[in-house]
Amino acid sequence: MLESLKKMFSGNEGDMPVNTGSKPDISREKSKELYEKAKTYFPGGVNSPVRAFKSVYGTPLFIQKGDGCFVWDADGNQFIDFCGSWGPLILGHNPPKVREKVIETMQNGMSFGAPTALENELAELIIKNNKHVEKIRFTSSGTEAVMSAIRLARGYTSRDKILKFEGCYHGHSDSLLVKAGSGLVTFGETSSLGVPKSFAEETIVIPLNDTEALTQAFAQFKDQLAAVIIEGIPANNGLLIQDPAYIEFLQKICKDNGTLLIFDEVITGFRLGFEGAAGYYNAKPDIVTYGKILGGGLPVGMYGASAEIMGHISPDGGVYQAGTLSGNPVAMSAGIAQLTELLKSGFYKELNAKATEFAEGIQRFATARSYKFKVFHVGSIFWFAFTDKDKIQCAEDIDPASMEKFKIMHRELLNRGIYLGPSGYEVGFVSAAHTKIELEKAKRAILEALDIVFRK
Ligand SMILES: *Cc1c(COP(=O)(O)O)cnc(C)c1O
Repeated sequence: MLESLKKMFSGNEGDMPVNTGSKPDISREKSKELYEKAKTYFPGGVNSPVRAFKSVYGTPLFIQKGDGCFVWDADGNQFIDFCGSWGPLILGHNPPKVREKVIETMQNGMSFGAPTALENELAELIIKNNKHVEKIRFTSSGTEAVMSAIRLARGYTSRDKILKFEGCYHGHSDSLLVKAGSGLVTFGETSSLGVPKSFAEETIVIPLNDTEALTQAFAQFKDQLAAVIIEGIPANNGLLIQDPAYIEFLQKICKDNGTLLIFDEVITGFRLGFEGAAGYYNAKPDIVTYGKILGGGLPVGMYGASAEIMGHISPDGGVYQAGTLSGNPVAMSAGIAQLTELLKSGFYKELNAKATEFAEGIQRFATARSYKFKVFHVGSIFWFAFTDKDKIQCAEDIDPASMEKFKIMHRELLNRGIYLGPSGYEVGFVSAAHTKIELEKAKRAILEALDIVFRK
């Protein structure tokens, strides 16, 4: 959910050019009706901007239910879903094990504002199986987790500035709604109205995959940088897979300068493997943040670090952070049930193999037809890019004009029963519920859509 905000929401909703594909458009009567009503209640008719169909054709689909790898909209259209609620649903929609555990917990009440054994249970599952955290704190969203991790880093180091990368999204807290200005190393500029300029000035923004910019930033802001924050694998503005050597360089320069390295693993945590991108790169971030998958579809985030660093959090230490619903028992139960499944032997191996076969099959077809189209993928995350570049590792390398092709593809895919997130900057997710049969069906639909996109 990054793709710098204006670019993304600038489209003209509802503009549907004449259908020249080979399938009729899906019916959207009910969704349209609900959308009209929603627009009278919510800005843009939505409760999170990325849900609006501003950068694809038509009005947003209102979803009625999900089961396994499928969702159904209000008009009864059925889709194979690759959005997965933007990442949390690694077991697919409404998995019985998660649902049953949630219902069982709900029989005893919804929230107490006092500790429960369920918090210990989820913490133990995480800490025992993840060498990157010794102590953790649960929050109610990824945004909150990251915001708190930044405060912790500032409190721990007694420094104010943070460094982030252009093309990484870290939730919507003030100091992170900041984009690069012009120049290699810049003070951030706000990317949203309402963020004070003085806040943005505490955030330095540089391009990804650029050791020179990193070196220059550390030379310039020596002794002022509390933390560098990076997405484990940047997956909110295309899929910008960084080289291991770059991650190693990043770790070293942070260490040499007493700057904490924060891996924001809200997407990659429990996705690439149980230890997320830190495990994937064999990296040692000082603080990690998780969300999405962690809550099994309910609102949960967390941040964690060594016991020594976490000792600075209130009430042990002087960094304040709290939450009325933090560690909510119902949400903890969903997390426990989901993470328990992920820990079963072979889970990631099987999921990642399935996703790789899917991505590579599509790529083989596109390459054989010389289409300017790449499927970038890692673990069970994939991204469709209309490019002939072999690697895309920084935000600048994405051609905004290529999004016109995504728009056509998105419409053709909806018409073939495939649901992708409504922006070409967004990644897709394969879940454990996608069977080989459905993946094969989806692949055929994608190949047909590509033929239409590239039709001369
Ligand atoms: C989704 C996301 C967030 C924000 O999480 P919310 O639960 O939407 O607040 C932060 N960082 C990354 C990397 C994300 O993908």
